[in-house]
Amino acid sequence: MNTNSSNIMALAPNTSNKRETVCIFGTGDFGRALGHKMIQSGYPVVYGSRSTQMSNLIPKDAEVLSHAEAAQKAAIIIVAIQRQHYNFLTPLAEILHGKVVVDISNNLKLNQYPESNAEYLAQLLPGAKVVKAFNTVSAWALQSGTLDASRQVFVCGDYMEAKQMVMNIVRALGLTPLDQGSLLAAQEIENYPLQLFPMWKFPIFLSFGLAAFFFFYCLALDVIYTYIYENNNFSFFIAITIPNRVCPVMALILLALVYLPGVLAAIIQLYRGTKYRRFPDWLDKWMLCRKQLGLIALAFASLHVLFTLVSPLRSFVRWRTSKGIISQALNNKTEPLDNANAWLSDSYLALGILGFFLFVLLGITSLPSVSNNVNWREFRFVQSKLGYLTLILCTAHTLVYGGKWFLSPSAYKWYLPNIYMLSLVVPCTVLVVKFVLVFPCVDKPLTQIRQGWERTPKYSE
Ligand code: NAP
Repeated sequence: MNTNSSNIMALAPNTSNKRETVCIFGTGDFGRALGHKMIQSGYPVVYGSRSTQMSNLIPKDAEVLSHAEAAQKAAIIIVAIQRQHYNFLTPLAEILHGKVVVDISNNLKLNQYPESNAEYLAQLLPGAKVVKAFNTVSAWALQSGTLDASRQVFVCGDYMEAKQMVMNIVRALGLTPLDQGSLLAAQEIENYPLQLFPMWKFPIFLSFGLAAFFFFYCLALDVIYTYIYENNNFSFFIAITIPNRVCPVMALILLALVYLPGVLAAIIQLYRGTKYRRFPDWLDKWMLCRKQLGLIALAFASLHVLFTLVSPLRSFVRWRTSKGIISQALNNKTEPLDNANAWLSDSYLALGILGFFLFVLLGITSLPSVSNNVNWREFRFVQSKLGYLTLILCTAHTLVYGGKWFLSPSAYKWYLPNIYMLSLVVPCTVLVVKFVLVFPCVDKPLTQIRQGWERTPKYSE
């Protein structure tokens, strides 16, 4: 009997479908969009505004009153007004006493004020139960219904039941509330919308720096050197030839940089004999941006494929081919097929195609929609085993392409190695160290350490 009645009680709020009135201060973009969505979800909405005149932009089922009148009609007041105007709330402190006041504001700069906007609001209204919410949802997304990318609503506040009331509204709007704890979390939540691709900063700066370095390196060796010593003007190399040298080099180095922190971490753990000590900060940060490094590497690899595919259309390539044919015709001599060369060129292309195919596969599995559908073991298999296979294929592709010139003095203009030789340093290092790490005498202690074994336990029984 008891169980039945409690079930009926639990169901009661949902079956009645009656929602409490919500008051929104401010009839600006966000206030209107949120009001619209709330009315659609069955909430009666009353606006508190400086002007009580209805305009056709305001949802027609909503009421517009003065701030004081509107606040008296609801237990929850959402303040959809910029922080710099908050002092208009001070005279309303008494009316807002005991009410749930929701701060949705954002700033223009990171840590713009000493305290968060929500804490400032709580100082202005000491009797109110201030909750931070909705600041990561945009007015445009609310209005257009394109909330897929921003369905999560971060909520924080010092009053549990006030937070619950706000989270119920969030759920009723079809969004997902994420409780972030007390009002102290508001500063961090306010900083979220201001962050500009935080995980991409280091990979992008690194890629730009390396790409610029390799571009000028090629410019010096392929254009300036040939102009000075061979009197050839190959300045047009800047458009396709040099980018098509820089892109594969960047793709290979960045792919190797995805796997380098993993082998460094293994060496550190072996050296320390424990996994319970933190890695240096730079290594932690590097590990966290491996996905971004990999995706930039894939972008460079794709550009390399495109540049290579347009090669036959280039006037320089057509000129060089016809020059070769004409010289054979003039000499009345057909050059025999060099079987070794044919093997080299076909293997080089095959390795490149396979490497690129796996590269794309790695990129696809890193997409959240795909990675969410594979279990941890499958994800690790693709990212680690197939990742290393991709690195091996791409390194082999480069080695087969330029391996024969390693010992040729003409490959060292100004005593500098060619760019593809430089590109092999990091991937070869990673592969050699990884090869050593898979030896059973190294792999066994490393696996033990990763399962919690310590060479000199800190806490012995
Ligand atoms: P808005 O279009 O500029 O509207 C703000 C409203 O504040 C005005 O329409 C006005 O409403 C009221 N107001 C202006 N000056 C005032 C004053 N001196 N005293 C009292 N009320 C005043 O701004 P919004 O884009 O709606 O943004 C409102 C808040 O939501 C901001 O804190 C913003 O950071 C936050 N937010 C906005 C978005 C978004 O996508 N727009 C997303 C997340 C969070 P009345 O004329 O009715 O009084």
